[in-house]
Amino acid sequence: MKQADVVVIGGSAAGIPAAITARRHYPEKSIILIRKEKQVLIPCGIPYIFGTLGKPENNLISDSVLQDNNIELVVDEAKELHAKELDPKEKKVVLASGESVLYDKLILATGSAPLALPIPGFDKKNVYTIKKDVQYLQNLLNALENVKNLVILGCGFIGVEFADECKKNRDINVTIVETLDQCLQIVFGEGACKCCQEIEDYLTKKGITIVTGTKIEKILGDEAVTAVRLSNGKEIQAEALIVGVGVSPNVDLAQKAGLAVDKWGIVVDTTMRTSDPNIFACGDCASKFSFFTGKPSSLRLASIATTEARIAGANLYEISRKNPGVIGVFSTALGNLTVAIAGMSEKGAKQCGFDVVTGEAEASDRHPAGMPGASKTWVKLIFNKINGELIGGAVRGGPSVGELVNTISACIQNRMRANDIAIFQTGTHPAVTASPIVYPLVTAAEMALKSMRG
Ligand SMILES: Cc1cc2nc3c(=O)[nH]c(=O)nc-3n(C[C@H](O)[C@H](O)[C@H](O)COP(=O)(O)OP(=O)(O)OC[C@H]3O[C@@H](n4cnc5c(N)ncnc54)[C@H](O)[C@@H]3O)c2cc1C
Repeated sequence: MKQADVVVIGGSAAGIPAAITARRHYPEKSIILIRKEKQVLIPCGIPYIFGTLGKPENNLISDSVLQDNNIELVVDEAKELHAKELDPKEKKVVLASGESVLYDKLILATGSAPLALPIPGFDKKNVYTIKKDVQYLQNLLNALENVKNLVILGCGFIGVEFADECKKNRDINVTIVETLDQCLQIVFGEGACKCCQEIEDYLTKKGITIVTGTKIEKILGDEAVTAVRLSNGKEIQAEALIVGVGVSPNVDLAQKAGLAVDKWGIVVDTTMRTSDPNIFACGDCASKFSFFTGKPSSLRLASIATTEARIAGANLYEISRKNPGVIGVFSTALGNLTVAIAGMSEKGAKQCGFDVVTGEAEASDRHPAGMPGASKTWVKLIFNKINGELIGGAVRGGPSVGELVNTISACIQNRMRANDIAIFQTGTHPAVTASPIVYPLVTAAEMALKSMRG
């Protein structure tokens, strides 16, 4: 029988930072992290295994981060959980090997698994969901060697990244099928901005076919997929189908232990505590609420998982952090084009009942624009008209967009108003930033203020 003050179940985007945060806040405590897989994939890097990185082994989280923080690793599957508050037995985790681990405080970071969609033929060979599993992804990589026609279901961030990567160094026809009218519309909102159109243009130029406004109704073939039938009646030949949508939180362990669980995940309060005060949950397995509306949120992102993990890890023995709710920050890069969004799209905000004012600006991210590595950066900011607070921002440009969207997220989280952003003290340099005179984040706020005055 093993024993530790703090036990974490899960070794990915939530489990690791939860354990590290516990170590930082409670240096005297013993910590064990239990995870079922030998090697942990960087989840956000999975699409790049199929092109840029070449194999799953090039996309792993190193265990050295655990050793460096004096966290004991146990590779085993947690099969059963005893929670003292709910169960008169001792507080322990029972593992598949038969070993038990006693805990004082427990963090559940058991993540999510892809959904099996209710499409006839979904169980056919060569229909792949995106499992965070080295051998499974290696099998998909091997299968692609014999595929001439690949169909990808879903044109969100994961779908477009898979399409672009699978097309690299491979003689293969790639078709993406999307229910909505445009790529990435699920994130950027309908008719939102140039981002969706430019991503479609990029993919089309690469020879990728995009079929929007229709669904995959049936997966055809005997044992293995040979084609998909769309709801518009058309059929597309396919020797493999990759499904890039839908995950469901892993709640079994918590549910069987008697913890409160709902359709959004393991129920937690703003301190990340579950219905048992000694057990916390964070990441994809935990329920979430929107920063903007307070309503349940279905967003599942590594950025959310790590934030929640840092709250859970810090709060184990003394509550010091509170979860402000999910803002939702997305970014992706295809070729030289990067698109990103933080918070609400204009359309999404209106659907939630916000009266909005927007401002847009475009400028080079170097000055003068002839400096090496310069890209034009376009920014759109969305403000709540009632109180002037920033509630969303979309960005398009080069690699600098990846951090610009994080600045926007910081402004949202701190409830900054257009006027605060207009007098934002930006550090600038010709080789690394936009000109302070036309800094697009500041100009977009000024444009929104102009509309507000108007
Ligand atoms: C292809 C893809 C690309 C993505 N790209 C991005 C991106 O660019 N940006 C972004 O923010 N998000 C991205 N995401 C989402 C992100 O990957 C998830 O939000 C993130 O992985 C959640 O982390 P987690 O630790 O909560 O769960 P998971 O990553 O699902 O990890 C769960 C962990 O728990 C372990 N576990 C589960 N049950 C047990 C058990 N019973 N016993 C022991 N161990 C157990 C698992 O083995 C695993 O270690 C992407 C997701 C995918 C699939």
